[in-house]
Amino acid sequence: MNAFVRLCAMMILATMVAGAPAATASASTSTPGHRATATHVGSTAKITVQAIAPEAMQAMPAADPVLVGAGDIAGCASAGDEATAALLDTITGTVFTLGDNAYPSGTAQQFADCYGSSWGRHKARTRPATGNHDYVTAGAAAYFDYFGVAAGEPGKGYYSYNLGAWHIVVLNSNCWAVGGCETNSAQYRWLVADLAANPVTCTLAYWHHPRFSSGPHGNSTAVLPFWQALYAAGADVVLNGHDHDYERFAPQTPDALADPVLGMRQFVVGSGGYSHYATGQPVANSEVRNSNTYGVLKLTLHPASYDWLFVPEAGKTFSDSGSAVCHSVVMPYRASLPLVSMAPLYSFKGTKIEATTPLAKYKTADALNRVVRPTVPPNRLARPWPHNDSNALAAW
Ligand SMILES: [Zn+2]
Repeated sequence: MNAFVRLCAMMILATMVAGAPAATASASTSTPGHRATATHVGSTAKITVQAIAPEAMQAMPAADPVLVGAGDIAGCASAGDEATAALLDTITGTVFTLGDNAYPSGTAQQFADCYGSSWGRHKARTRPATGNHDYVTAGAAAYFDYFGVAAGEPGKGYYSYNLGAWHIVVLNSNCWAVGGCETNSAQYRWLVADLAANPVTCTLAYWHHPRFSSGPHGNSTAVLPFWQALYAAGADVVLNGHDHDYERFAPQTPDALADPVLGMRQFVVGSGGYSHYATGQPVANSEVRNSNTYGVLKLTLHPASYDWLFVPEAGKTFSDSGSAVCHSVVMPYRASLPLVSMAPLYSFKGTKIEATTPLAKYKTADALNRVVRPTVPPNRLARPWPHNDSNALAAW
């Protein structure tokens, strides 16, 4: 993908099935940070909007940090964690874990002998999260002892750090062990304050139990408050484990409504090496699933976008890759997007939105005028996204 596009641009491509014009017509316009063209060919109108991010976001790709890891990792009887640790040997960057680090009980001996002999050699660059198996040992004491200050304040298991232009939040979804995950809990209050104190371009969060999963554990409502706080803050990516498989979701709201513009993209990366779980009937917005490949997820964190790549263990071929723009890049142009949102079919594909919409009442120049507006009325930003609202454009 073109680096300029990947780093600093967002493209909206709306193909409208219009009823009227039979001839070819085109128009174009631009505003600061915006370039747009519209062309009618026969009964189809194609609109392209390219929104260019500020110069400050155009950093050097070579310096962009990498975040790589998985969850559900080490067992002394499994060779899987040796296979995924071998992948880490070849990938530089910060290592994340998504909990259930040392099976079966997270004891000091299992951390030393099972985790220590594989992922342990990358401990100095690891920022872990804790899982339910780590808590089989009371208070996850061995987990906190093993990782030390890298795991945040002992006993809490939630903390945050910055990586390049990104803010990274680690949460503890073993809610019972830390005073809960609800909106009145200490952890939730910390999360909201942490997000408010770090209004950066891109935000990623990870913890153990997934809000959404097609694996045997299924969806979890216990971590819904995490999703609500992160979504409200415009966060971009969520990583989880617990189900021993790999799954990628389309961007969605905390309530599982597809939201290609401001939804969070969740990955289940329970492929760290301990064992495999079969996935069942796909839950809403599930895009990719794999149940037979250990591997790690490598995220390259650009200043205003990210690339993901699932790297399989040696001898396996399953992979998954893609890229997306951070919400803070999209946000200023949110008022441009209702036209696209009205489409019955639309999707984010990397840095591009593709849509087909039956709007017939607007001619090229009119539609273009509505897509590209020099200023965004403040009340537009405050309102919820008008999904499939056929009156939204007219009212707007
Ligand atoms: Zn678990």
